[in-house]
This record gives sequence, structure tokens and C-alpha cells, in this order.
Amino acid sequence: MHPLVVMDGASAPVPDDAEPAVPPQQEWAAAAEAGLAQRTAAAADEGEAADVVPVSKVQISPALLQSLIDAARAGFPNEACGIVAGDRPARDGGKATAFHALRNAAESPYRYLIDPEEQLRVTLAIDDAEEAVWGIFHSHVGSTAEPSATDVGLAQYPDALYLICSLAGEVPVVRAWSIRNGTVREVALSVG
Ligand SMILES: [Zn+2]
Repeated sequence: MHPLVVMDGASAPVPDDAEPAVPPQQEWAAAAEAGLAQRTAAAADEGEAADVVPVSKVQISPALLQSLIDAARAGFPNEACGIVAGDRPARDGGKATAFHALRNAAESPYRYLIDPEEQLRVTLAIDDAEEAVWGIFHSHVGSTAEPSATDVGLAQYPDALYLICSLAGEVPVVRAWSIRNGTVREVALSVG
């Protein structure tokens, strides 16, 4: 079992979606763009910009899907967030096993911030169970279930999937994404 590294940016508010610009969010957006540029350049150097999670399809249980939707609704009108554990990382073909809903410390409809202490507690528990961080979840309350530019720029788990639940339409929509070195690819999510 590989030790899990807590995200360096865990204490940073993650701006999301379109919103009125205010200075702190501009700072984070700039940081995200800078990080994205760096990672894209690094990927180009390595010649593996397209080296995203090498699975094109994943399956989650109806109960797990429902727990994501429930968390999104519970967090409304703010974004919700959490971590999905799996028996192995999604990149290695792992299967999702459990969802850990976490508090959005940013308490915002436009961004999420996983509380660093909660993140540490959950990642240690996942590690203790000899499991892996399979997915990073958050909701979009007013936009589609696609990663925002900020989501891409601040993505820290290239081996995990980014799961987004949109509450913008009449029914919740959950989609899964691989974000690696600034490259985004949708991973088909089936429920069964
Ligand atoms: Zn987002």
C-alpha cells in the first residue's frame, strides 16, 4: 500500500464555476492557471500529455451513486465534496468501495475546500484499510458536471477520477473525469 500524500493545496479555497470576481478568487484562479501551465509544459516534456487514467469506463453501485447525489443535495446551495475510496486506484482498474462525504470548508456555491484535517483523517482511514483514493467528488450547483478550468488546474490526484454531480438540471447528473497533467478525459460511468 502506497502512503497517501495530503494535497499541498488542501488549505486553498478552490474557486469554481462562473462567479463575480473578487480578489482572493482571482489569486486562486491565477495560481490554478500557473499550475496548469507548469503541468502542461512538464507533460509535454515527458511526451505524455495524454497519459490520463487508462480506463475508458468504470462502474459504481447504485448505492454509491445515490450517496453522491444525496451529498450534493445536502450541501445545497453550496458545493459539496468528498472522497471515494476504492480497492485500488481508478488508474489501476480499482473498484469504488465507499464514499466519505466531507465538509466544504469554503461554504460556497462557487468553490469547495476539503478541510485538511478531515482529509487527513479520511485518507489515513483509507490507507489503514489498505484501500486507495479512488475518486475526488464535488458538486456544481449551477453548472454542468464538467470540470471547470480551476478544477483542471488544481487537480492533484492523477490516478483518481474526478466525480462531479451537477444539480443544475431537473435531475442530478454525475459524470467522471480523468485529469492528468492538464489533460481532461471523460470516463464513462455506468451504474450496476
Ligand atoms: Zn468544479
